[in-house]
Amino acid sequence: MFRPKSAPLRVAATACPHDCPSTCALEVDVLDERTIGRVRGARDNSYTAGVICAKVARYAERIHHPDRLTKPLVRTGAKGSGTFAPISWDDALDLVAEKFNEAEARYSSEAVWPYQYAGTMGLVMRDGIHRLRHAKKYSGFHSTICVNPAWTGFVAGTGLLAGPDPREMAKSDCVVIWGTNAVSTQVNVMTHATRARKERGAKIVAVDVYMNGTMEQADLAVLVRPGTDGALACAVMHCLFRDGKADRDFLAQHTDVPDELEQHLKSRGPEWASKITGCPVETIEEFARLVGNTPRTYFRLGYGFSRSRNGAPNMHAASCIAAVSGAWRYEGGGAFHNNGAIFHWDRSLIEGTDMIDPSIRMLDQSRIGAILCGDADALFNGPPVTAMLIQNTNPVSVAPDQTRVKQGFARDDLFVCVHEQFMTETAKAADLVLPATMFMEHDDIYQGGGQQHILLGPKLIEPPGECRSNHDVILGLAKRLGAQHRGFDMTPREIIDWTLQKSGWGTLEKLERERWIDCQPDFDTAHYTKGFAWPDRKFRFKPDWPTVPFRSPGLSGPVDDLPKLPDHWTVIEEADERHAFRLATSPSRSFLNSTFTETPGSLGREQRPTVMIHPDDAASLSIADGDKVILGNQRGEVRIHAKIFDGVRRGVLIAESIWPNHTYEDGRGINTLTGADPIAPYGGAAFHDNRVWIKPAA
Ligand code: SF4
Repeated sequence: MFRPKSAPLRVAATACPHDCPSTCALEVDVLDERTIGRVRGARDNSYTAGVICAKVARYAERIHHPDRLTKPLVRTGAKGSGTFAPISWDDALDLVAEKFNEAEARYSSEAVWPYQYAGTMGLVMRDGIHRLRHAKKYSGFHSTICVNPAWTGFVAGTGLLAGPDPREMAKSDCVVIWGTNAVSTQVNVMTHATRARKERGAKIVAVDVYMNGTMEQADLAVLVRPGTDGALACAVMHCLFRDGKADRDFLAQHTDVPDELEQHLKSRGPEWASKITGCPVETIEEFARLVGNTPRTYFRLGYGFSRSRNGAPNMHAASCIAAVSGAWRYEGGGAFHNNGAIFHWDRSLIEGTDMIDPSIRMLDQSRIGAILCGDADALFNGPPVTAMLIQNTNPVSVAPDQTRVKQGFARDDLFVCVHEQFMTETAKAADLVLPATMFMEHDDIYQGGGQQHILLGPKLIEPPGECRSNHDVILGLAKRLGAQHRGFDMTPREIIDWTLQKSGWGTLEKLERERWIDCQPDFDTAHYTKGFAWPDRKFRFKPDWPTVPFRSPGLSGPVDDLPKLPDHWTVIEEADERHAFRLATSPSRSFLNSTFTETPGSLGREQRPTVMIHPDDAASLSIADGDKVILGNQRGEVRIHAKIFDGVRRGVLIAESIWPNHTYEDGRGINTLTGADPIAPYGGAAFHDNRVWIKPAA
């Protein structure tokens, strides 16, 4: 394994590329032209504030890992056997072009499906694949696996995906960290929240489905059953109205139907919510009292509680609390989920949006199993998918409905090219595997999701072996496929410079000098003091769901049944007689989706796949700590070890994820149990909304 040498050649600035809202500003010890040493958080970045997570601090073990892919490989054995032989880059790209052209000639251009996600969050390397698909009219990619329920739920109230400056958490008197295990998944939230606690005596409240690290550090931990956050939010708002803590002036001036909401919430008090959430009435009352008595309350709303069939209304309900209490008025108050709307990118060069043909079908990323298995509805009655290029994602491990995903990838008539850093489970299932650069080996730009900076990530070192960047692969294919666009003739630096200038953020030269751009809008804009982002300027308690603005090809799921006002929507996979438990697949501390499952540090900490179960549930099923158990539902079965843990509600199971499938007996990973049915109103995957049974393994 890699050992850092002593003195760095230089210290270089970059940004974390991983799928994490923190988007930390990094400082890297560059030891020589091919080697890095220590990685630290930039102290002078006002959001990162010198703090990063352990998995990125030890990045040298990932970037210099002996298992990095370094040569193009072509399959020589049976599909999925993992038997490959080296092939030259030219021959590899020729083969992809040949297979894509074959698919197009046999069916149509829509038989080719370029597939990507957020393995890197760099705009050039992540999104350049769209330019190729637009130029060639390949099947579209309806991105659904992560943000859809969360973003639509938040925008349903405010009208815009933006909120108070996340650094204001440090100026708050109460920080509510809802549905995100910040200690593990976005450490900077804790940096600012704990600063408020230390300097101002602020309280930290955490709302989650198990006693994770963030819940342990909170002053008040509100433990709920998965998918019941809407009920909790309703009860808190009920108490605010009941106890005279609703901000009547704010409600009258800035919200749509406050009287109707108050009336609606009369039947949704703490007793009602306690039965649904499993949370004691006293805890709900204490939470409401704290919010009611603390005008300067900052609601930091995460993604976790949106990964449910009722995720969008749950997010909306939680965001409504700040409008009832009037917290938006104050510095250190309001509700924040993501800052996507503040960056106003011109994406035309990176994505080739000027070539979009709206008649081309958009295939749902989360339904890759159904699509590859040929379900007519998933294919919109169009041609089968017979050729794919996959960058930045590992669907055989991370996509829901895993059994069908694997069936699809096993098809003999499907050609798959995977461009990857390691031999992931998707790469193993491919016909051709191309070695990819990591972030310090190419140029890119990044935007904060949970903060407000644009950051530069320049190339710092040479890649190992024959690794090429996503951009290089797209250019190589575009040339062979005859795809035309000016973006195919430019370097990443040229694309970055043009995109920055067109988007109103200055030049690459300036960004290079200054390392990042603070894009935070002023207080009045961020707090919507002159009105929310709807034509009537009112926050919407009563959203018109089908018109909530979201980049999507159309509505999906049971849109007509979405609750009209904040509520507990019973569309979730509720436990039943056969499946007595609700399972959430929450993120583990040391992995990030399936990334970092290859590094010794992360593997050593996580040890093995486990499922947490309440001691009383375990006793009733004769399950002891460490026993092997089987979890199952209509989608399949998974063998895993039990961990007895009293930090979950009875009837709830937590399997921290995402472990590679091969680490489970029988090779069936946790996503064997998760469903791919679309979520209303704009799709999504309900990773934490599964009914299952559990029994001891024989
Ligand atoms: S906290 Fe998130 S953004 Fe920061 S270094 Fe870790 S993974 Fe990257």
